[in-house]
Amino acid sequence: MTDVWTKELADLVGEERLLLGFDQVDKLSKDYYWYSPVLEPLLRDKRADAIVIPETEEQVASVLSFAYHHGIPITTRGSGTGNYGQAVPLEGGIVLDLSRLNAVQEVTEEYARVQAGVRLGALEKLLRMQGKELRIYPSTFMKATVGGFVCGGSGGIGSITWGDLWDGNVLEAVVYTLEETPRRLTINGPELAAYIHNYGTNGILTELKIPISTKVSWGQTVVQFDDFEAAYRFSHAVASDDSIRKRLVTSIEWPIPSFFKPIGKHLEPGASACLLETEEGTENALADHAALFGGRIGYVIPSDQYHKTIGLSDFTWNHTTLWALKTDPSLTYLQAGFHPVDFPRQIGQIKAEFGDEVLLHFEFMRSAGVIVPAALPILRYTTHERLYEIIAFFRSIGVGINDPHTWMLEMGGHGQIEAMLAAKRTNDPRSLLNPGKLQIPAAQETIGSDER
Ligand SMILES: Cc1cc2nc3c(=O)[nH]c(=O)nc-3n(C[C@H](O)[C@H](O)[C@H](O)COP(=O)(O)OP(=O)(O)OC[C@H]3O[C@@H](n4cnc5c(N)ncnc54)[C@H](O)[C@@H]3O)c2cc1C
Repeated sequence: MTDVWTKELADLVGEERLLLGFDQVDKLSKDYYWYSPVLEPLLRDKRADAIVIPETEEQVASVLSFAYHHGIPITTRGSGTGNYGQAVPLEGGIVLDLSRLNAVQEVTEEYARVQAGVRLGALEKLLRMQGKELRIYPSTFMKATVGGFVCGGSGGIGSITWGDLWDGNVLEAVVYTLEETPRRLTINGPELAAYIHNYGTNGILTELKIPISTKVSWGQTVVQFDDFEAAYRFSHAVASDDSIRKRLVTSIEWPIPSFFKPIGKHLEPGASACLLETEEGTENALADHAALFGGRIGYVIPSDQYHKTIGLSDFTWNHTTLWALKTDPSLTYLQAGFHPVDFPRQIGQIKAEFGDEVLLHFEFMRSAGVIVPAALPILRYTTHERLYEIIAFFRSIGVGINDPHTWMLEMGGHGQIEAMLAAKRTNDPRSLLNPGKLQIPAAQETIGSDER
């Protein structure tokens, strides 16, 4: 950016909302891309020219109009906890940090309407004070924003009951386009698919309406097993038992639990572990299931301690990978979808092929009504070639992979690409929204990058 643009931008939003210092810009240009040994060297030096932190929708619109006129790329940021470099600007420009767009606008029995920068942890706390709670949230909920989850996440705690983002967990979005005069769209119904997990490539979401549910007293329980097969079969049985209300059903193969230092003293050495959030009063049902599979009830966190201490969800979803990386930075991970019924056979094939080179971690969820074993396996990174050999093997036995080692939406495997492209064509005619994340077929680009 030139000094003239900087001055114009400062006049537009106010100097206090514009950050230009190297360290601040560098920090706010990064997310958790370093989870991937493939992405780390490629994204380490990428940074924006400026950070803008708007406080109103009007300021968002004026920055978008400014970017359109000057041909400046805009990458949106919530809290920057995404794992695939989604929030890292590949071509410089402005990072639009929405964390100050953080008003809770309306809470009813059925839904919450919030600005996109509201943190999920703050919203959950507010809802629980009113006898309600979120339906689904990522394990990063204390930091992550509602907009960042919708535009960069997929599922998490609660997905065992409510599914992922595409299962009706977003009701409405206010979307700004990047045009000469940005339009304010209200999107609902099937059209939302174009904006869920869009990395902000075809519109900027400033407001969201999400469904909520009634508050439950959640107990947290660790159940341990001598072998991983018993652990995942137990988890599947609990996940499928509709008489047990639940928010989290995780199975983790030993030695992954040995990475969980803060709760290490509560875990049995050598045991595979299942981490559960179930409704208070389901202890006996859990014990019955555990007995059937030779499991032992271990560490229990009573419901009055929920969200007050380090919780079991701090070791699940992609937090499991974080503890692994903290212990051994040469480890990495995959995101995999196993067959809902045939998964034990697929697990057997993987263990036969890779042994301890691949350690399994399952998050059971309910998607479109079916219990699905989603997985975030941990593996040692040796070479790029070996990583993709392992991915190819998973795919060859029918295990779907959402590749976490790419920033390209098409390659990652989440989201509805055709719908996203269609929205991008109309909402972002100069291809300035998070360029490089959604590949536009050359013939469809309206204005080439040479005009920027
Ligand atoms: C330890 C760890 C655990 C995790 N666990 C989970 C998990 O359980 N489930 C899960 O789904 N993810 C998980 N993630 C990934 C990530 O934390 C979540 O997806 C989180 O919700 C992202 O929110 P954020 O505010 O940090 O978004 P950001 O990282 O800031 O943004 C995510 C993407 O959305 C875009 N974006 C952000 N806000 C907007 C907006 N308002 N409009 C348009 N585009 C926008 C950004 O450009 C970026 O492409 C995990 C990550 C880590 C590091």
